[in-house]
Amino acid sequence: MSTKTYAAFNEVDALAPHTIERRQLSPKDIFIDIEYCGVCHSDIHTAKGDWGKPNYPVVPGHEIIGRIKEVGSEVTNFKVGDLVGVGCMVESCQDCHPCEEGLEQYCENGFTGTYNSKNSKHGGVTYGGYSENIVVEEKFVLRVPENIDVKAAAPLLCAGITTWSPLRHWNVKPGDKVGVIGLGGLGHMGVKFAKAMGAHVVMITTSESKGADAKKLGADEVLISKDNAQMEAHKNSFDFLLNTIPVKHDANPYLNLLKLDKTMCIVGAIEPIEAVNGGLLVMKRKNLAGSLIGGIKETQEMLDFCGEHNIVSDVEVIDIQTINTAYERMMKSDVKYRFVIDIKSLKEA
Ligand code: NAP
Ligand code: ZN
Repeated sequence: MSTKTYAAFNEVDALAPHTIERRQLSPKDIFIDIEYCGVCHSDIHTAKGDWGKPNYPVVPGHEIIGRIKEVGSEVTNFKVGDLVGVGCMVESCQDCHPCEEGLEQYCENGFTGTYNSKNSKHGGVTYGGYSENIVVEEKFVLRVPENIDVKAAAPLLCAGITTWSPLRHWNVKPGDKVGVIGLGGLGHMGVKFAKAMGAHVVMITTSESKGADAKKLGADEVLISKDNAQMEAHKNSFDFLLNTIPVKHDANPYLNLLKLDKTMCIVGAIEPIEAVNGGLLVMKRKNLAGSLIGGIKETQEMLDFCGEHNIVSDVEVIDIQTINTAYERMMKSDVKYRFVIDIKSLKEA
């Protein structure tokens, strides 16, 4: 099926219109008519080749919300008209230990990403949500609560689950002092979730101008990471740090903030980070960890929680024709706090 998309064709040029073919429905497939798609910093990293040369043309987008238009003959949990989401994964082996545990993101055979992944089962390369529609196996389709704002729910599929999963894994609980580093798409969801879990939340930001917004999002305090005196005042005081910085950086000043035995989890930088001072870890038995999105079961739990507590992202809705400006603004940390593409602008173009 011929489908309109926006794609990156190389590392330097702007994204531009591109037509792809979606596969015919297999018995377990679901055809989703996309309404909104969030813009993740990973889209930029991939399109620009920050993580190695991708399979151009790249159609990014893994924060997908839409309605089901058609279901395969063996689909049992969904029906035409349902409001659904697709996040960062569309397949995994379903056979290895992590898959059996519902941790498909850590599949030992490698999960198939929603875009820029070789599709071992169905052939070709996957294309994401900057697109009119998508075909995804039922197992990787999420149910979106009908009571939440659809456009503001799209970022839950990546920014939401990527912050929810580590906060849960490290058991953030009422009274914990939690720092969220970087106020962008991931960071603003981290603040909302940590607050909802009862933590005392500190927004750790390089941008003084974002302080007031951080408080509106639920932060109890704002810590400007460039201010050494402020950093010193918070030394050895945090129970958990969620680090969303999207680039290589010096992690030592942040590790300095942790209490004895506590953890900083990196979700942003997946490249080598600057040398970590082992002494900082050794002297207070601190932990430096990482976390990747979240499993399908956990993503559904997060969406259900958001439905119950009316938690969504703060979004700036854009037409797809302005996607390149959105990328430029995100690269300057100028995002409040997630761009979401109204896919109507693609359908009607
Ligand atoms: P984003 O919206 O662009 O926000 C990133 C924020 O980090 C910026 O707004 C800025 O906040 C801060 N920042 C940027 N450069 C910095 C620097 N050099 N030093 C300190 N802080 C800096 O990005 P995002 O969409 O939230 O994504 C964040 C990262 O997570 C990306 O690398 C993305 O690829 C990755 N990611 C990982 C996963 C996973 O599963 N682990 C999933 C999705 C995305 P302030 O202005 O507040 O300082
Ligand atoms: Zn993402």
